[in-house]
Amino acid sequence: MKKSILATCLCMGLFTFGCQSNKEKENTDKDNSAPIENKDSHSKSNALEINPQHVSLNLEVDFDKKQIAGSAKWLLKPNENTDKAVFDTYQLEIDSILYADGNKAEFKIGSHDPILGAALEVELKKDTEELTIYYKTSDDATALLWLTPEQTFGKEAPYLFTQGEPIYTRTWIPSPDGPGYRFTYDATIKVPEGLLALMSAENPQEKSKNGVYEFKMEQKIPAYLMALAVGDIAFKTVDDRTGVYAEPAILDKAYNELDGLGEMVHTTENLYGEYKWDRFDVLFLPSGFPMGGMENPRLTFATPTILAGDKSLLNLIAHELAHSWSGNLVTGASWDDIWLNEGFTVYIERRVTEAEHGADYAAMLWDLAEKKVDAAIETAGENSKDTWLKLDLKNRDPENAFTRIAYDKGAALLLLIEQTVGRENMDNFLVKYFKDHAFESMDTERFLTYLDENLLNDNEEWKEAIRVEDWVYGPAKPSNYPKVKNTRFEQVSTQVDAFKNGTSAADLKTEKWSTYEWLFFFEELPSKLTLEQMEDLDKAYKLTQTGNSEIANAWFLHSIKAEYETAYPQMKEFLYVTGRAKFLSPLYSEMIKTGKSEMAKEIYKIARPNYHPIVQRGIDGILK
Ligand SMILES: [Zn+2]
Repeated sequence: MKKSILATCLCMGLFTFGCQSNKEKENTDKDNSAPIENKDSHSKSNALEINPQHVSLNLEVDFDKKQIAGSAKWLLKPNENTDKAVFDTYQLEIDSILYADGNKAEFKIGSHDPILGAALEVELKKDTEELTIYYKTSDDATALLWLTPEQTFGKEAPYLFTQGEPIYTRTWIPSPDGPGYRFTYDATIKVPEGLLALMSAENPQEKSKNGVYEFKMEQKIPAYLMALAVGDIAFKTVDDRTGVYAEPAILDKAYNELDGLGEMVHTTENLYGEYKWDRFDVLFLPSGFPMGGMENPRLTFATPTILAGDKSLLNLIAHELAHSWSGNLVTGASWDDIWLNEGFTVYIERRVTEAEHGADYAAMLWDLAEKKVDAAIETAGENSKDTWLKLDLKNRDPENAFTRIAYDKGAALLLLIEQTVGRENMDNFLVKYFKDHAFESMDTERFLTYLDENLLNDNEEWKEAIRVEDWVYGPAKPSNYPKVKNTRFEQVSTQVDAFKNGTSAADLKTEKWSTYEWLFFFEELPSKLTLEQMEDLDKAYKLTQTGNSEIANAWFLHSIKAEYETAYPQMKEFLYVTGRAKFLSPLYSEMIKTGKSEMAKEIYKIARPNYHPIVQRGIDGILK
């Protein structure tokens, strides 16, 4: 997930039951190990004292009231002398709390913090190991996006999906809501008949008759990976452990794009070791989904905007899949350590992309990413501590963690290490790292020690070449920022020059261009093109009509700058139906920057109900 949700493109990116034997054993073996101590400034829970083990949810989803109500039964293993359990909540209405014997527990709700919510404190008796919390969600629970039928592809049934990362699970489940606290779960979820419910768990592949669904998640996960989606959803199998869920209206399109999903899992396993979550399915959400993807375990949530028809945007799926190792299996202990999730994940995504499409293709992504790092540094300021890999987000919204620094500067550090120690050493190191710390959390300091002890050892030459501290506890781009040879963009630059010098668009050599060559082309063009140039490009390549959301976004940005009104109707349509923050923020910002605030406000008036509350907040800020 992740971003200020507006600054990023990703993760923000969730069944049937495969063979489980050995995998489950590994999980249960870890059940008794104490959670690792960490400094999570975004949770009020005393999770390290109560040792949450498991939660059983029994919830009903009410689309009329836009409310989830029911109970969460927590199994705890409190340390001796722990006399209270503290859970994170955010505007939850707590009805009552019962001990295992059915007696009521005393509880109190602390003061509300606009970022963190309120601590729910429950009195523990001697030997209390079970608490059942009866509760309801509030009208504006941030994790829940309720869609009307009109906001779906099918237009007939309502839809609900959740977004837990970073700290929104507490808006629908009272929980120890920090990335360092793991537990298993099961759930009974009741939804209106005719709808399918899915979770980040073992999932059904078809609708039940009565709208009741049972779920089981036997691998320990942190609260931010709890996920639920409810809608008119159907399933199509790709292979014995992968498949695609989507509304029937887009299921075939989604399947055709992802028919290589099983292979992608194999490719990633070959690089980083066994896939530990049994199934890997992808759910395509309605267009209002604010992120690119969210790596909910076993069931990645993905935006339909990557369904370009030519598989050109599937590196997003490679990214969410990579989280099955970095992020979900080994989890950054706090949001300050987010680069351990996202930087690693981008690095793995690049390696999978390279394995599938070749090194010259992956090189384009490395190149585009460096530009994003430059832009992020410019936004934050060269000396800002927000450009360190290790962040300090105390008293700040953890949404601030999700910038291109964590993603792309983080990935660049891993690339530098790979270039220094050699690919084979690097790959062996990562396989061991994921194995040694599977289903655990990891903070930056412990990772650096592990890196030293397991890879760099006493090799002073390597250490001097990498200077890892400069990256982790230093600003901006260290002087040893790694370079990747990228020949394909050189060819694009030649075409940009030709176009600037008067070659007509139709005569440019663009035949074999992928999405990334096009994106680079738009970046390298003068920021404001003439109307004649816009018309020439549009005529040659039908850019206004493109079905590729990345290219559409780049083209509409140029259209706003050039006041190329021919593209406006399509751009408006794009903004009405697309809820993906990555596209919205730049387009609205550009309209404001170029004096088109009236147009921006008119579009937003119609589009706003389709956007996620987190996105609404961001765009409200841009347009105020
Ligand atoms: Zn990610």
